[in-house]
Amino acid sequence: MRRRPALILDHDKLRYNMRMVIGWCGRSGIDVAGVFKITGGMASVARDYQECGAVMIASSRLEQLARAKSAGVDIPMLMIRVPMISELEELVEICEYSLQSEFATLKAANEAALNAGKVHNVILMADLGDLREGFFELEELVDVAKYVEDSCGGLHLAGIGTNLGCYGSVVPTKEKMEQLVRYAEAVEAAIDRPLEIISGGATSSLMPVFDKEMPDKVNMLRIGAVTFCGPLEDLRQAYGRKEADALHDDVFTLEAEVIEVRTKPTHPIGKLGVDAFGKRAKYVDRGNRRRALLAIGRADYGDIDDIIPQLEGAFIIGASGDHTIMDVEECKEQVRVGDVIKFKLKYSAILRLTSSENVTTYEL
Ligand SMILES: *Cc1c(COP(=O)(O)O)cnc(C)c1O
Repeated sequence: MRRRPALILDHDKLRYNMRMVIGWCGRSGIDVAGVFKITGGMASVARDYQECGAVMIASSRLEQLARAKSAGVDIPMLMIRVPMISELEELVEICEYSLQSEFATLKAANEAALNAGKVHNVILMADLGDLREGFFELEELVDVAKYVEDSCGGLHLAGIGTNLGCYGSVVPTKEKMEQLVRYAEAVEAAIDRPLEIISGGATSSLMPVFDKEMPDKVNMLRIGAVTFCGPLEDLRQAYGRKEADALHDDVFTLEAEVIEVRTKPTHPIGKLGVDAFGKRAKYVDRGNRRRALLAIGRADYGDIDDIIPQLEGAFIIGASGDHTIMDVEECKEQVRVGDVIKFKLKYSAILRLTSSENVTTYEL
């Protein structure tokens, strides 16, 4: 019997999704860096990406990339959170590539690479309006590119990239991708050679790929979310396109166990203060309803909107750190203590569940 709560990873479904996405990109001349940070850096997932044709493994955490490397994944490692100066020695040991956006960090990375006797590949980030990381002025981007090219024996300027749809919710339109290409051309003119990598963004940048609007020059995407979440409604709304319907939306599923079933009122009884998280909650009085209490909570998955029960007629009415309350009044089948309820998962629930020590992961 499985320990519960259980997080189930179906590798066949994952590899199917990876092959589909890498195929779509490949037909548009785009390589994929497989981003596995959502899994907390599972080496088996990095291995899947390599097997399915990703050209690099990418994560925002060095320890995750180190784990994949120790597990024998031997395609280049790409650090996608611009590095801390304090981790540059590790960076050049673990990663062949990194995204960069600060002159001081590049200078220190050059030292670290020279000290380690390595040449580290950098991709300079351009901020095209999403307002997280990246050079904001083209002039500064070009100056720093020239500095790396001419004065950094420990660094190789591999390319430029951008990130959209993260902080600023900016959509990777054809215009944004064309702007990235203009930036790349300006850098190429300044260093007098072509760049190898023009990295056009993340899952959200599949939109221009689907619409056949991606400029030829954009030749790499860093993709995570869609391979794990497939066509879940949020992703479909954000990134549109029925193409994603071809993907599995149950690569990761959650199983939680019922620990109490009882009919109770729906409105709390007594003088109301705040809930477990210090919030003043609103309660609708729907009379007496049958409810199931589950042994899993927000400490494990975060927000109740990010887990989707796979039981007809059931819905979540609330949760505290370690409990989830489901309304099962309208379920056709009787829910009993000891039953297991399955859930599909949105991005942030997978991100949290893979690092919850209360949850056991099973790989199929
Ligand atoms: C997380 C991340 C990605 C991958 O994003 P998905 O939405 O998971 O595809 C790409 N680039 C950067 C810089 C990231 O931080």
